[in-house]
Amino acid sequence: MTEATPDHRPLRVRFAPSPTGTLHVGGARTALFNWLAARHAGGTFVLRMEDTDRERSTPESEAEILRVLTWMGLDWDEGPFRQSERDHVYAGAVERLKAAGAVYPAYETPEELDAMRAAARADRRAPVVRGRRDHTPEELAAFAAEGRRPVWRFAVPLPGQTLIEDRVRGTVTFDHAQIEDFVVARSDGTPTYNLAAAVDDLEMGITQVIRGEDHISNTPKQMLVIRALGGEPPAYAHIPLILGPDKKKLSKRHGAASVEELEAAGFLPQPTRNALALLGWSYDDKTTTFTLAELVERFSVDRVSKSPAVFDLKKLEVMNGRYMRTMDPEEFEEALVAYLAKTGYLAGRGPDAEALARRSAPLVRRKLSRLDEYDRLAGWIFRPLEFEPEAWEVLAGDVKHSIQVIGGGLGRIERLPELTADAAKDALQDQLHVQGESARAFLEPQRIAITGQTISTGLYESLELLGHDEAVARYRATMGRLAELWGA
Ligand code: GLU
Repeated sequence: MTEATPDHRPLRVRFAPSPTGTLHVGGARTALFNWLAARHAGGTFVLRMEDTDRERSTPESEAEILRVLTWMGLDWDEGPFRQSERDHVYAGAVERLKAAGAVYPAYETPEELDAMRAAARADRRAPVVRGRRDHTPEELAAFAAEGRRPVWRFAVPLPGQTLIEDRVRGTVTFDHAQIEDFVVARSDGTPTYNLAAAVDDLEMGITQVIRGEDHISNTPKQMLVIRALGGEPPAYAHIPLILGPDKKKLSKRHGAASVEELEAAGFLPQPTRNALALLGWSYDDKTTTFTLAELVERFSVDRVSKSPAVFDLKKLEVMNGRYMRTMDPEEFEEALVAYLAKTGYLAGRGPDAEALARRSAPLVRRKLSRLDEYDRLAGWIFRPLEFEPEAWEVLAGDVKHSIQVIGGGLGRIERLPELTADAAKDALQDQLHVQGESARAFLEPQRIAITGQTISTGLYESLELLGHDEAVARYRATMGRLAELWGA
């Protein structure tokens, strides 16, 4: 393994998002890998906002990215730096590049550039742009007199090659004939992305760049800039693309493509982080669950695969459900209530909503794989008894039988001095034998009688949660509705 960075330099990595939206799964994975690499090595994690696109970058997006990183449990040691506040640094770098003769002023019009690309294609060459590097001082003076302001292009050394010793992809060779004389400064003096990123990596002493594979064609350009400035490029690790289970680029169609959506769907930070860590990285071929400490201890960019990673929401659901079932019950209660409060679920559900949600936590803990399933299971708790159409169908399908079994259940529940889940279980199990009913034929109507739903929290625990009076009231209301139907 070739290391571009001598081992004695302490590791400095950075996460450099463009604050133009929310944090996608891919960006979150990049942040996590960089953070893990830093914490594993006792290095430094730098956060840098690449907001050179002034139109699309917003403070709201930056705030959202910071919020999501914090939600994921990732902290940073330096920054957030903003490229928009570092114009003087880039201007200074461009001056140094000019002095070194590494860049030249280019006056080509858009039409000339198009013609150049078309000619290259006709010749079956890569459509790379080169400006005229050899203007005479007289020509330059004439352009200046006309008020024409050039862009500054990097004079890519020809012939030549730039090699990336990539920690994931191995040696990747770029022939300079394929690299255009990229713009480093626009005619208004503002820096381009490749200039700013390269200058920052150099100035911020970054020793290791871990980023998405979609950036690999930028890397030789950034290496050329860094070398022209007299620096040594960092080591690079280009991590694989993330696809959905259908092997298409991950998007909203796959259920969720951003951390914000995962959070809104009720995935907890720990299993989410665990799933993100496994997007391209593995420890061995069997371990799929890691604590954060284990990730820090075991993470190495050298164990990242170069084949595309697949993000499967179904797998995350399994991990999330398992995590919730095994986490500390009180922590689960807090996570549930925080989620319900944050999503606005508890608002307008009465003064007891939070207390009810807390009491429901043990009832839903083993049944949820994501917190947005809560309403489906437990929403009935917050509403007066009302029947889902398909649940009412079950009772109305055989009214006589429904009256018999629900009446039988009511008789037993009513007489219980204290309605605990255990007492309810004993009483109802006994009653179903007395009536000679199968468990399903007897118990499903009981569930519907108190919840109005076919799917809900467990029957016995639900009875206990309601308490004697409310449970009996619901039973009676159901009996009343059935009696009306019978009489009709
Ligand atoms: N700002 C770039 C992006 O959001 C990241 C570039 C880098 O990591 O070097 O995709």
